[in-house]
Amino acid sequence: MKLIFLGAPGAGKGTQAEIVSEHLNIPTISTGNIIREALKSGTEMGLKAKEYIESGKLVPDEVVIGIIQDRLAEADCANGFILDGFPRTIPQAEALDRMGIVIDRVIDIEVADDVIARRVSGRRVCPACGASYHVDYKKPAVDGVCDKCGDTLVQRKDDHPDTVKERLQVYHDQTEPLKDYYAAAGKLVIVEGQEEVADTTKLTLAAVEA
Ligand code: ADP
Ligand code: ZN
Repeated sequence: MKLIFLGAPGAGKGTQAEIVSEHLNIPTISTGNIIREALKSGTEMGLKAKEYIESGKLVPDEVVIGIIQDRLAEADCANGFILDGFPRTIPQAEALDRMGIVIDRVIDIEVADDVIARRVSGRRVCPACGASYHVDYKKPAVDGVCDKCGDTLVQRKDDHPDTVKERLQVYHDQTEPLKDYYAAAGKLVIVEGQEEVADTTKLTLAAVEA
């Protein structure tokens, strides 16, 4: 199964993608995580992306398209994958089509902007393994410590309120048009994000299995 998870920043698509990924035993490919990883290890691509990511802007299309092309060529993608955070623009979606990749379904997780602003401020991430938590909705077993690897959780620079506003604007301007793009292809399924993660998961799994 080849899936795309669409949604505003902080809508919870990453969390849902991880769950579905385990359920279907296919990898989740998060361009955000790949870029942050490159930034941390100081690669050339990471340096190029730094300004964009930290100010809440999109990294240039050619950079992320290159990342995705390399990643999808790896062996673990042969039986399917979930794309989390890609495509984020129409040219990125067109590039995916040109690669000959046939997506089965696009799951769009919808959450209102004001809810997102509140959620994102409580988000905490693991700098070592990329796992994501929330101070209210998805607490780690021990406060401030990653369940998976034990590292100390941090707040992402781009999760600060002003940057979140910018990211929402970018989402509405550049990413939301993808809904029409995939609806026209008959692939879009909308999931209304719920207050409880588990409730959203039920709807997401139903959307994937429908
Ligand atoms: P979120 O979904 O919470 O916004 P991500 O981790 O997916 O967070 O993305 C964080 C940042 O990484 C984006 O704001 C952007 O700067 C960059 N990024 C990730 N994916 C893409 C993409 N497909 N195109 C352009 N920039 C991207
Ligand atoms: Zn971790």
